[in-house]
Amino acid sequence: MKYEQVKYIKDDKEKMIQVRLYSIAQLEEMEQEGEFYCPFKNCKAKVCLVHNSKNGGRTAFFKAVDDAFHIENCDYKIDNYKEVVKRVNASGYFTEEQITASVRSLYKDYTMPIEEKEEQKNKRKRKNGKGKGTAEDNENATTRKTTSSGRIIYGDETIDGIKGIMRRRYQVTSNDIGQMTKVCGVISKIERSKYGEMFVSFKDQRLNNIKIFIGPVYQTNNPTEYSRLGIVEEYYETLAKKQEVRLAAGGLVNFHNKELVIELQAKGSFMIEGKTIMGLIRDRTVNEK
Ligand SMILES: [Zn+2]
Repeated sequence: MKYEQVKYIKDDKEKMIQVRLYSIAQLEEMEQEGEFYCPFKNCKAKVCLVHNSKNGGRTAFFKAVDDAFHIENCDYKIDNYKEVVKRVNASGYFTEEQITASVRSLYKDYTMPIEEKEEQKNKRKRKNGKGKGTAEDNENATTRKTTSSGRIIYGDETIDGIKGIMRRRYQVTSNDIGQMTKVCGVISKIERSKYGEMFVSFKDQRLNNIKIFIGPVYQTNNPTEYSRLGIVEEYYETLAKKQEVRLAAGGLVNFHNKELVIELQAKGSFMIEGKTIMGLIRDRTVNEK
């Protein structure tokens, strides 16, 4: 598994760092002064910086010095993620805007009445003067156009070169591990771990093998939103008493504690009943005034 974050210990001080926020030069210097470790909780396996031979060492990644030093249940231990290695397929890079637009479009597509959808399709047909143009085509077209810039949330522009396409899945299996995917369904429950991570499960039979996971990656990218996840929970609890609550979310399919999850990265990577977390925070601020 790719180490997107590693533990860094220097002068007995420990911190978790997001690898992509550092230059190779910085990481090399840090390695001289301290030590890098596996980011998994309680794991003491040392990791080291390795230069990528594929591109003449222009990029680098972390690798365990000895895989046997990972603790038994560590997600990064090779035995625990064989499947991941096989399937990881960097199919491009993804920006924050792109993910937000893609999730928004999925939510719209999922919740818009079919009649209205037909109507839009026909309108588009007339406009384009051609018979094709599914919602997906249309989305990809706009996504490409509007996301030429923006913070890269996943992937590496210099390696992947192209912008990825976020695939919609009705069902997610372990074959999708390492893929950027989006799903939509009715929420069955929202849980928080003792570390504050959020897990969302679906009522839909087809999505009952997977949870949406809002954890350390989301936290690093969006500390403010992460600290206010309680608003999402409250919004859901209140609304769920009256109606079904629908969620669209997009992120990276992965394993977490031996469960299949879609780990979210971008601020706008989930929408509950058409609202992003930024929207919920805004509503809250207005109401408080
Ligand atoms: Zn480990």
